[in-house]
Amino acid sequence: MDKLIYVNGIWTGEHLEKIKVSNPATGECIGTVPNGGRKETREAIDAAYKAFPEWSKLTAYERSAYLEKLYDLMIEAIEPLAEMMTLEMGKPLAESRGEVQYAASFIKWYAEEGKRVYGRTIPSHVNHKRMIVTKQPVGVVGAITPWNFPAAMITRKLGPALAAGCTFVVKPADETPLTAIMLAELCERAGIPKGVINVITGKAAPIGEELLTNPRVNKITFTGSTEVGKLLLKQGADQVKNMSMELGGHAPILILDDADIDKAVNNTLLAKFRNGGQTCICGNRIYVEAGIHDEFVERFVRAASKLKVGNGMKEGIDIGPVINRQGYEKIDRHVQNALKQGAKCVLGGSGIVEGDTYFYNPTILTNVKPGMIIMNEETFGPIAPIQKVNSEEEAIKFANQTPYGLAAYVYTENYAKGIRIAEKLNYGIVGWNDGVPSAAQSPFGGMKQSGIGREGGTEGIESYLETKYITVGL
Ligand code: NAP
Repeated sequence: MDKLIYVNGIWTGEHLEKIKVSNPATGECIGTVPNGGRKETREAIDAAYKAFPEWSKLTAYERSAYLEKLYDLMIEAIEPLAEMMTLEMGKPLAESRGEVQYAASFIKWYAEEGKRVYGRTIPSHVNHKRMIVTKQPVGVVGAITPWNFPAAMITRKLGPALAAGCTFVVKPADETPLTAIMLAELCERAGIPKGVINVITGKAAPIGEELLTNPRVNKITFTGSTEVGKLLLKQGADQVKNMSMELGGHAPILILDDADIDKAVNNTLLAKFRNGGQTCICGNRIYVEAGIHDEFVERFVRAASKLKVGNGMKEGIDIGPVINRQGYEKIDRHVQNALKQGAKCVLGGSGIVEGDTYFYNPTILTNVKPGMIIMNEETFGPIAPIQKVNSEEEAIKFANQTPYGLAAYVYTENYAKGIRIAEKLNYGIVGWNDGVPSAAQSPFGGMKQSGIGREGGTEGIESYLETKYITVGL
């Protein structure tokens, strides 16, 4: 499947060198995309810049109609989109279907939310003035997205940006450009005017440099690693670019003595092993209070041992491949470091490497200590390290001891305690007895080095709006 880039409503880039896209479950090449660079990115930015006046002038109701159409087309295309995602990045087909629905939900929700972008009037302190606050779209948006949710990480930006009246240039991850291109095909079929959405594939550095330094780009929205996020913040500093950052996480899971063990096991299974542990909010470290520790471990191991690893296109597979060799090596380094420092492996502990494909078995480690790499760096794999703690206070102290602040989870049936702990956790998202917290209508994002800004919910559209204060002298 050879695809082209989408610039100003035209499929182009035939003349460019091609980049191969591989299936991480088989190593096979599944298609190619053009290696676009600064020139193509500049053309896309120019197209978005030219499309902006007309698009932003439409009423919120008119833009909403386009988004509703796009939503319908995405739902109609669940199967092909899901298959493409599983082929490109390996997640089990059932999870890919779920991602298409989740991705489409952002389009639907912001189709409505765009109609509720309100300003306000402010009572003046003097009789001869009137004070008005209005909202207007920021302008051209440059989006850079990761591979782990190839559709949703785009629509979580695209929905609010288009609803707000912005135009859009997206650079998807190297591993998953084909899903992004399918989304652009659906935008075209939805009749979204030319130039409003543009997709550029190619090497990250030149595309990123153009997006970050071109003065026609008013906003950068990035989802990816904290390391790359910091680089982009530096690159954008000269122009004081308006930037939103959805970065890495290292979610703690706190399981306290009064937890409902069934809820803790079932939700932790999802929070840890969904997408093979390759999600920014996946539980990276588990703190279990001493009184419940052994029972939790026993039941969690029993449940996780049923998970099947393999090609996500096959029926019954729960954990697909690791995205690439670097990802695999990082996971294994974390496991080996923990074992060397005294952790005990109670499930899994090894990977499967065949040719250029990498899988890791669901792994559970106990007797884990705070200094181990796995308790401090994002693992991005199906590894669950469990540390025994002696109290609620100790669990909170360890949970907060990290530069990350994206998601945290807590399991307790005591509601006063649950509220107390949720308030003390320095995280943007707290899942209390809930391992799958994200939803289109809720704000998603991190504190500390996990990001700047929020996506989803009413906060999500604010990122694409400027606030203007108009003072009128009478
Ligand atoms: P990544 O390596 O940071 O890449 C993310 C995107 O940035 C890709 O499109 C990548 O392009 C691009 N990129 C890399 N270097 C760049 C540069 N110098 N200039 C401009 N763009 C550049 O992250 P990833 O491995 O794709 O995704 C996993 C990370 O994303 C994890 O840390 C995860 O926690 C985080 N994440 C966060 C959230 C959230 O909402 N907070 C959600 C999902 C994922 P190439 O692919 O072409 O290199």
